[in-house]
Amino acid sequence: MDLYGGIEGGGTKFVCAYGSGPGDIRDEIRYPTGTPEESIGRAIEFFRGVDGLRAVGIASFGPLDPNPKSPTWGYVTTTPKPGWAHTDFAGPIRRELGIPVGFDTDVNAAALAEYRWGAAQGLDSCLYLTVGTGIGGGAVVGGQMIHGMMHPEMGHVRIPHDRDMDGYPGFCTYHGDCLEGLACGPAMEARWGGRAETLPDDHPAWELEAHYLALGLIAYIVTLSPERIILGGGVMERRILFPMVRSHVQKLLNGYIRTPELTDEIDAYIVPPDLGNQAGVLGGMALAQAKLATESGM
Ligand code: ZN
Repeated sequence: MDLYGGIEGGGTKFVCAYGSGPGDIRDEIRYPTGTPEESIGRAIEFFRGVDGLRAVGIASFGPLDPNPKSPTWGYVTTTPKPGWAHTDFAGPIRRELGIPVGFDTDVNAAALAEYRWGAAQGLDSCLYLTVGTGIGGGAVVGGQMIHGMMHPEMGHVRIPHDRDMDGYPGFCTYHGDCLEGLACGPAMEARWGGRAETLPDDHPAWELEAHYLALGLIAYIVTLSPERIILGGGVMERRILFPMVRSHVQKLLNGYIRTPELTDEIDAYIVPPDLGNQAGVLGGMALAQAKLATESGM
C-alpha cells in the first residue's frame, strides 16, 4: 500500500507520522523544535527506510516560500524564530529521502486536510483559521490551496478598532492592532492580565474576542466566499466562542448576504476542526498526496 509521510513543523514542536490516511497512522513521533539541523535531521531519520513511503508533506510555520518555481522553494523565510530565518526546510528532506516533498503553511495544510478528510469533506471550498499564539488562515478553492504571490497572511487583516471601547494598542510587531494584534492569545493575556484559558466564560473578554474574530471572518467571507469556515487553535478551545462568533458575523453582515450558510445553517457553517490535534500532521500527509498526484500527472 502507498504510504504518505506528514511533518507538522511548528514553532514549539514537531510531529512526524506516516500512513495511508487518518484511520491508518502507522507510526508517529513528537519532539520539541530545536535547531533546523536537529529538527529536520530527526524527521529524515524517522522516515528513512519506511517501506512503501511515496511522498512526504511539510506543514510548516511561516512565512515561507511555497512556489515550486522559486529558487527558495521549501525555505522558511523571514521568521523571527531564532536560527530558522532563511532555512531550507524541504530541500534536505527531498535530497535525503529521494521522494517528492510537498511544502506549505501549517494553515493551508490544515485547510487541505479538513477539505479532504474532515469538516469540509464533500465541499468545493473552505477556510481554516487558527487562533492561538498568533492568527493564521489558509483556504482551499476547487481542491487547490490559495497561494498567489506566496501565501495568505490572513491574521494580519486590518479591522476597525474602537479605542474608546478597547484601549489596548495591539500585539503585532508590524501593525499593532491588526486582527492578530487584537485577538491572538497573547493579546488577550496582555489586555486582561490573565491567560485566556484562565478567564471565566462570563468574562467580557470573550464577547470582545468574538467581535474581533467576526470582523476578520467578514473580510474573508466577502472576498473568498468560502463554503465552510473552520476555526481551530488554542483560543478556540473555548467552545462558547462559536455561538458568539456566529451571532456577531450575522449582526455585522446585517442581512447583506442571504445564503443558507449565513442564515438558518450558520451552526454548520462556522465550525471547529474535525481532525482535532491531528490536523497539522494530517495536513502534511495531505500535502504529500497532492504533491505525488501533481508530479505523476494524476
Ligand atoms: Zn499584523
